[in-house]
Amino acid sequence: MSRVYNFSAGPAVLPEEVLKEAQEEMMDYRGCGMSVMEMSHRSSMFQEIIDEAEADLRDLMGIPDNYKVLFLQGGATLHFATIPMNLMKNGVADYIITGQWAKKAYQEAKKYGKVNVVASSEDKTYTYIPDCSDLPISEDADYVYICQNNTIYGTVFHTLPNTKGKTLVADVSSCFLSEPIDVEKYGVIYGGVQKNIGPSGVQIVIIREDLLREDLPDYVPTMMNLKMMADKGSMYNTPPCYGIYICGKVFKWIKSLGGLEAMKKRNEEKAAILYDYLDNNTMFRGTVRKEDRSLMNVPFVIGDKDLEAKFVKEAKAAGLENLKGHRTVGGMRASIYNAMPIEGVKALVEFMKKFEAENA
Ligand SMILES: *Cc1c(COP(=O)(O)O)cnc(C)c1O
Repeated sequence: MSRVYNFSAGPAVLPEEVLKEAQEEMMDYRGCGMSVMEMSHRSSMFQEIIDEAEADLRDLMGIPDNYKVLFLQGGATLHFATIPMNLMKNGVADYIITGQWAKKAYQEAKKYGKVNVVASSEDKTYTYIPDCSDLPISEDADYVYICQNNTIYGTVFHTLPNTKGKTLVADVSSCFLSEPIDVEKYGVIYGGVQKNIGPSGVQIVIIREDLLREDLPDYVPTMMNLKMMADKGSMYNTPPCYGIYICGKVFKWIKSLGGLEAMKKRNEEKAAILYDYLDNNTMFRGTVRKEDRSLMNVPFVIGDKDLEAKFVKEAKAAGLENLKGHRTVGGMRASIYNAMPIEGVKALVEFMKKFEAENA
């Protein structure tokens, strides 16, 4: 067996301890004679798996009792529609556009109501987070929407926007569990798990109870009715059982390392190694305004397409995979999620130094 350092933006690296445990339990989950994949979702064994996953997530994030935790499907992309369908009472929402995922969410929401762009960083290819301390928030906005960590561009909201009392909704797909957050500042926190938690196919939605509504428009599909999904404990239909099981293991892995404070420390340490090098070399440079840099996704460029292609190719040969930037941005991007070991980041920087020396 030989494993690479996988810098993919998603699906992405998972903790080896988790993969090994899943391997050990593959044929016979804890003496029940079958794999979790083969188990009825109505069995007590699976109910235990999902209940324990929820309890561990609540514990990790400090989720208050008046918030529901849902394990759903459809990708974060489906929730671009689920959010307006469930939250628009007045039919109005304000969006902050800091990248393609926020823009896609905005375009989807427009199908269901009046949607205002109250801030954007599109003017500089999303390389910064706009000042959101005093935005023209709509009087009748049902919510204010952000994409908290911009996977493609490598920016993050270090400070949440001032929503002037309106409900904050955040897509946290690429920064889920990367550091502690104050859940009570949000109405909805949601994201796909394939960036920082588990295998693709599971979305986690954390929603304040008073936002769940009985009086949804008739056109809302049952599978997108968050009240229904909450009432049914995420099991109106068959949930993504195996994915939820792996997420549960990742929650335990994070707890074993000391929880989200420890994750933050670890992630800051890793990111600093890479950013310090980017700020102090002659070949590579980061593309994001310093104060808005993400701890999770680090885009960088050389500024010479041929040399960048050579870099990605030689890095791959050296066991450093998936460093090519997003197809719409070019250059390189290193995603250094929770499960990327510090050794991986050190190996990347060593390789960059070598490449710099050889190609100067
Ligand atoms: C990857 C990503 C998405 C899209 O996720 P899907 O599961 O492919 O729908 C949405 N938002 C953010 C921030 C992402 O990183």
